[in-house]
Amino acid sequence: MTTSASVTNRSTQSQDPTRAELLARVERMKAAQRARPAPSIAERLEDLQKLRAAVVAHKDDFVRALDSDFSGRSRHETLLAEVFASLGDIDHTLEQLPTWSLVEKRPVGKYFVPAQAEVRYQPKGVIGIISPWNYPVFLAFSPLAAALSAGCRALIKPSELTPATSELIAQVIAETFPSDRVFVVTGDAKVGEAFSSMPLDHLLFTGSTRVGKIVMRAAAENLVPVTLELGGKSPTIIHESFSIELAAERIMGSKLLNAGQTCIAPDYVLVHETQRERFIAEAQRVVRKMFPSLEANGDYTSIINGRHAARLRGYLDDAASKGARIIELNHRRETMGPTRIAPTLVTNVTDEMDLMQEEIFGPILPVVPYSTVEQAIEYVNDRPRPLALYYFDSDASRAEMVLERTVSGGACINECVAHVAQNDLPFGGVGPSGMGAYHGRSGFETFSHCKGVFKQSRINSADFAMRPPYGMKMDMLLKFLTR
Ligand code: NAD
Repeated sequence: MTTSASVTNRSTQSQDPTRAELLARVERMKAAQRARPAPSIAERLEDLQKLRAAVVAHKDDFVRALDSDFSGRSRHETLLAEVFASLGDIDHTLEQLPTWSLVEKRPVGKYFVPAQAEVRYQPKGVIGIISPWNYPVFLAFSPLAAALSAGCRALIKPSELTPATSELIAQVIAETFPSDRVFVVTGDAKVGEAFSSMPLDHLLFTGSTRVGKIVMRAAAENLVPVTLELGGKSPTIIHESFSIELAAERIMGSKLLNAGQTCIAPDYVLVHETQRERFIAEAQRVVRKMFPSLEANGDYTSIINGRHAARLRGYLDDAASKGARIIELNHRRETMGPTRIAPTLVTNVTDEMDLMQEEIFGPILPVVPYSTVEQAIEYVNDRPRPLALYYFDSDASRAEMVLERTVSGGACINECVAHVAQNDLPFGGVGPSGMGAYHGRSGFETFSHCKGVFKQSRINSADFAMRPPYGMKMDMLLKFLTR
C-alpha cells in the first residue's frame, strides 16, 4: 500500500524561498506579463494541452507520491479525484475557451445610439494559488487551468503536509512551463504568509476558514483580490419519503472518499427521528459492502498524519465523555494503525461537543434526528453558512423549497459531492465557507478583468448639444431627460 519509491527526479527538496526571493519572482513574472499582456487563445489552448499531457504522463507518479504522503492513499481515489478531475476541468476549458473569451456586445444606452458597448476579458496578470493537502493535485491544477485559460501567469504554493506530491508538482511544472509563466514554491505556513503578502493580481486560497482570514488580511495590504475556497460543516438532510437504503449508499460513499478528508464531504446527517436506527443499520451494511476489511485495505485511505488522527480521536473522546453514543463501523473489529480511523457514526450529539463545532474532515459522521423538515432547515440556518448542502427527497417541490430557504456554497439533491464534478457549475463557498468561485466559465471570469468598453460613433449629439456654455438647448434637453 505505502511505497517508499522515489517520486521525483530532483535529488534534493527545493529550499524554502525568502520573502525577497518571492518578491523578485513576482516582479519577474509581472514584467513578463507587461511585455506580453494577452496571450492569444491559441497560445492558451496550447498551455492547457501541455498541462493535460503532463498530468497524464505523471499520473502514476502522482499515485505513488500521494500514497507515500498519506501513508496509504487509495490508487483509485487518486486517479479519480486528482487525475480524472483535473483532466475533466482542463478538457472542458479546452472545449469552451474560444466561446468564453469572445468579446461580448452589450446594448448601448439608448441616448448613445449608434455608439457601441462591449465587454472584453483581459488577463488579470500574475495569479497566486495556495493549495491544501487533501486533494493536492486537483486543487493546484484546477485553479491553474483557470488561470491559464484567462491568459494569466501563476505562482503556486502547495501544502507542506504532502511533501512528495508538492515536490512532484514543482518538478512537473518546471518541466512543462517556462518559470516566468508558471512556477511552484514549496514551504510551510511561513512561506504561505510571505506568499499572501505579495503584490499579486489575484490570490486564490484553498484551505481552512481560520487561515483564510489571515490570508485575506495579508492580501488587503496590497488590495489583492481574493477567492477564498474554505471549509465548514456541510449538512445532509434525508426526508423520510426517500429510500433510506439509497441515501445511506450515496452518503457513506461520498463521506468515505479520501476517508472523509474532503471539503464538501457530508459533515453530519439529519435523519427523521423515526429512521435513525434504520439509517445506522444501512450505513453499517454499506460500509461492510464497500470495505470488507479496513486496516490493510488499499481502497480505504489513511488520515494524512498523526496530528490529524489524534484530532479525530479527540473528537470521539470528547463526544463520548459528554454522553454521545459512538458506533464504530469496524465489523471485523480490526485493530487500526496509528493513522487509520474506522468509519464511525455518532448519535446523541449536542452543540457542546467539539465534533458539532469544528469541521470533522475525517470518517466520522454525526447522526442528528429531526421531527419536521422545518426543524431541519432551522437547524441548518442557525449555523454558519456551509460550503455544500445535500438534501434527499422523493418530492421535487419540497426539494425546491429547501434550496430556496437555505444558503450554501453549492448543493446536491439526492446525491452528495457530485456538484464539484460539473465542470460548468461555479464552485465556491458563501460567508465563512468562502467567497468567489471558480471551475469552468467562473474560473475564466475570476482570473479575467472584465473590462467594459464604450466605442463612440462618428456623429455624437453630445459634441454639439451638451457642452458649455450651457444655454437654452441644454435646458430643453435636460427638461426632456429628467422628465
Ligand atoms: P490550511 O488552511 O491549514 O492550509 C492551506 C494552505 O495554506 C497550505 O498550503 C498552508 O501551507 C497554507 N498556510 C498555512 N498557514 C498560512 C498562513 N498563515 N498564511 C498563508 N498560508 C498559510 O488548510 P489544510 O489543512 O491544508 O486543508 C484543510 C482545509 O481546507 C479544510 O478546512 C477544508 O475544508 C478546506 N478545503 C476547502 C476546499 C474548497 O474547495 N473549498 C477544498 C479542499 C480543502
